[in-house]
Amino acid sequence: MRVLVVEDEHKIANSIKKGLEQESYAVDAAYDGTDGFDLAAVEEYDCIILDLMLPGMDGVEVCKKLRQEEQIHTPILMLTAKGQLNDRVEGLNAGADDYLVKPFAFAELLARIKALTRRPKNGLGTTLTVGDLSLNTLNFEVKRSGKQIQLSKKEFSLLEYLLRNTGKIITKNQIINHVWDYDADVLPNTVEVYIGYLRDKIDKPFKEPSLIKTVRGFGYKIENKIPILRKLKIEDK
Ligand code: CA
Repeated sequence: MRVLVVEDEHKIANSIKKGLEQESYAVDAAYDGTDGFDLAAVEEYDCIILDLMLPGMDGVEVCKKLRQEEQIHTPILMLTAKGQLNDRVEGLNAGADDYLVKPFAFAELLARIKALTRRPKNGLGTTLTVGDLSLNTLNFEVKRSGKQIQLSKKEFSLLEYLLRNTGKIITKNQIINHVWDYDADVLPNTVEVYIGYLRDKIDKPFKEPSLIKTVRGFGYKIENKIPILRKLKIEDK
C-alpha cells in the first residue's frame, strides 16, 4: 500500500511517514499544497492524508481539484485542527472521505487508513485468502497450509498487493508504484528479485498449486481458480 502525506509541519509529516513505514506502507511526503497536489495527480496512491491548513493551496482546494479536475478518487483523510468544525464540514464537502482532528494518536490514524483502504469491491477484509494461503493485514501473519511464514516488510507488501488484486494481471510498474515510495530507486529487475523471494517462501516449500504465476511480457498474477476462503463476508453489489 502506498500513501501520500501532505502536511506542512515537517515534524508531524515525518512522524506519520516513519510510523506508516513501520507498518510496511510505502510513504511519500509533501510539505505544501502545490507539491501535494502535483504528486497526487501523477503518482498512484492507495490513500492520501491531507492537512487542511497548508501553504500554497489549502487542503480543501487540493481535494476539490483532485476530485473535480483530475477525476482522482483515491480515499482522502483530512487532518484538521481542534475545534474547526466548519473546516471539517468544508473538507468533507470538497470530497474528503474522512477527517481526523489534531492532535491524534497514531493508532487512530492507522485505523482510519485501514478503514478507508478496505474497499468492498475488491473483497477486502483484514484477512486476505487464496487457496490455503492467508495474510492478515492487522497482525502481519502469513500462513499457508496452517504453517506460519516469515516475510520481510517488502515481501509482505508485495504479497498483500497481489492478493488484493487476485485474478488480475499486475504489471511490474504497478507493483513498483504501489509497493515502493517515490524516492526508492527501483528497477523492474528488483520486482523480479522480490517475486523470487516470495516464491521461495510461499510456493516452493509447498505442494502444488503454485500461487504466483508469471504472465510472460505482462507481469504477475495470483490465480483465483483456487477455492477462495474468505474469512470476512463482503457484500458485493
Ligand atoms: Ca498545517
